[in-house]
Amino acid sequence: MGTLLARLLRKLGLLRSELLARTVPQYLNTASVQDGELVHVVDGGIEKWACFRCPGGCGTVIPLSLNPKRRPRWSVTSDWLGRPTVTPSVHQTNACACHFHIRRGRIDWCEDGRPPERAGGSDDGQRVPGMRVARRGRMA
Ligand SMILES: [Zn+2]
Repeated sequence: MGTLLARLLRKLGLLRSELLARTVPQYLNTASVQDGELVHVVDGGIEKWACFRCPGGCGTVIPLSLNPKRRPRWSVTSDWLGRPTVTPSVHQTNACACHFHIRRGRIDWCEDGRPPERAGGSDDGQRVPGMRVARRGRMA
């Protein structure tokens, strides 16, 4: 019930939550994971996975293992509106290299793992070397 209310509030722009949890008994496939939701797989009372689409723009479904016997392992808690909090942070090892926390449905980016389109403007130190190389190239 809380999740339905949260979805409505989010639609109306009254709730800023990038992810809402949806609990399912079994993980089906990546296509079943919608944008803006965290699929919480709980099979027979045992937490298995938390799956959601990468917020960095690549769209890859990130499966986090909730199995206490496996490493790495994450834990998910949801508030009454179904807004998930995931601990510890998530650090993508693919080309995206996203690093972020999920707190009450919000994506909190870490300084070392922001997606390019969200990175800062002209003071973005990582982009400066590339621009210098380009200038040298034109002058040669
Ligand atoms: Zn990504």
